[in-house]
Amino acid sequence: MSEEATSKRDFIRDIVAEDLASGKHARIVTRFPPEPNGYLHIGHAKAICLSWGIAQENAATGSDFHLRFDDTNPSREEQEYVDSIQEDIRWLGCDWGEHLYFASDYFEFFYDCAVHLIREGKAFVDEQTADQIREAHGTVSEPGRHSPFRDRPVEENLELFEKMRAGEFRDGEAVLRARIDMSSSNMHLRDPIIYRVLHESHHNTGDKWCIYPMYDFAHPLEDAHEHVTHSLCTLEFEVHRPVYDWVIENCPVPSVPRQIEFSRLTLNYTVVSKRKLLELVEKEKVDGWDDPRMPTLSGARRRGYPPEAIRNFCQDVGITKFKGVTDVARLENEVRKVLNASAPRRMAVLDPLKLVLVNMPEDHFEEVESQNNPEDEGAGLRKLPLGREIWIERNDFVVDPPRKYFRLAPGRAVRLRGGYIVQYVDHVCDPGSGDVTEVHCEFLPGTIGQAPPEGVVCKAAIHWVSAAHAENAEVRLYDRLFNHENPDAAEDGFLSVINPDSLEIVAGAKLEPGLGTEPPGFCCQFERLGYFCADSLHHEPGSRAVYNRTIGLRDTWGRKS
Ligand code: ATP
Ligand code: MG
Repeated sequence: MSEEATSKRDFIRDIVAEDLASGKHARIVTRFPPEPNGYLHIGHAKAICLSWGIAQENAATGSDFHLRFDDTNPSREEQEYVDSIQEDIRWLGCDWGEHLYFASDYFEFFYDCAVHLIREGKAFVDEQTADQIREAHGTVSEPGRHSPFRDRPVEENLELFEKMRAGEFRDGEAVLRARIDMSSSNMHLRDPIIYRVLHESHHNTGDKWCIYPMYDFAHPLEDAHEHVTHSLCTLEFEVHRPVYDWVIENCPVPSVPRQIEFSRLTLNYTVVSKRKLLELVEKEKVDGWDDPRMPTLSGARRRGYPPEAIRNFCQDVGITKFKGVTDVARLENEVRKVLNASAPRRMAVLDPLKLVLVNMPEDHFEEVESQNNPEDEGAGLRKLPLGREIWIERNDFVVDPPRKYFRLAPGRAVRLRGGYIVQYVDHVCDPGSGDVTEVHCEFLPGTIGQAPPEGVVCKAAIHWVSAAHAENAEVRLYDRLFNHENPDAAEDGFLSVINPDSLEIVAGAKLEPGLGTEPPGFCCQFERLGYFCADSLHHEPGSRAVYNRTIGLRDTWGRKS
């Protein structure tokens, strides 16, 4: 299904194919235009995979994918975001080659286009207040009214616009407006503002400019400047398309790009608005943009999601104009699929209980072998030390087992994964609390890889770690950040439906030897528990082991609901 080479067809890929076939374009240029005011999230991944994918599929024609920072708004943009966006796109496996651009490098071009519009009588400097402009804008059912400055002579407009650039107006004292149609049923065509005065430093151009272009004016010009052929964006831009086309028609542009809209990715149990993600970070509801519970790409990376799983997911979701909600379980399943095939198997005990093999001598150790990945023949075997004392999971022993409980209990036998069958002898309880503190068993010689001997019933295999060799670790169990299906619609706001159990820190986990020295980012399956990865921030090989649970082996949410 999700073969990478054979991307699903969709209406945008059909348009691209037609444009190549008809000769309208000899090659395709697409772009991803993030505003550097936040980290990339899973919704952006969909947009990137689409635009990059189309360029990639048509590479034989010389098609290109551009990464362009849409950094025309000086007030909210930061270098941290510029850097993280590039890192995340590379991690996702997409590549812009030489084509890294900044819209702020085109400020002179935007300015020239504005001057051109003024000369053609298609733009004017408006000195009304923001309130006056808003008030005259009309409503959906009522046309707007003309600005008293609309019919200024060209020369006067040129002079005033020059003065705007020279800093002779304060913020809000004047704007440049396109002269389109105040009675248009499309509100965006009612003499839209295309430049405003803003005395603010820009991360790229410093204090060179004190006027900045508006999105609707700048974006089509950016596309045209870069010879973008297909400018792909989400549906909220559909109503802006007439402005996009007007700008392209009326400005001296070197090429004619076409804007095409598709529906945005919306996931249940998730928020993907940058404003809300920023709020989670600023209010310290999460541990930064790359908190493993965040729907950001940096969060997914830290959590251990393979980029391939995100690409497969985006492809599987597909491109349409249909506004639907995608079940986050589909993303999680793609993660499981990739990890099941690729993640090496390891053993770790999260809630350790001591098990003593009473018939094994004190200082005797031996090695047993366990498969690295049963899904992958080539992954081979690894040797695990086994001694008299091992750790097992506390819930793998029960004094009074319920029906259908097949693991260790008085009178029962169970297999140690990759090792012996062990037979219950007795157990020790804490005299105060009554909790079990130790279980004693006998191992049955000759049972490694063999069926149980006559008269022994063994219905389960449990994971374990040699106590003498175990490495201590902190393990972080993550769950969905929200326990409301549509956090955006929660009555008391999305912050009120944060899942209080979205992070559980297990301090005293026991890992099989070697896991403590794996590098940050190392992913594996802890047998029977799920997929885990060494935390990129806190895991220090050899001195401090910190593992994140990427995802459980099965979808427990599906069963809950
Ligand atoms: P947000 O709405 O989360 O704040 P944004 O649209 O403001 O995101 P930009 O940096 O402007 O963020 O977005 C860059 C590109 O990513 C845009 O072309 C936008 O259409 C696309 N994009 C943003 N969110 C989604 C989404 N949920 N699904 C698909 N594409 C998206
Ligand atoms: Mg946006």
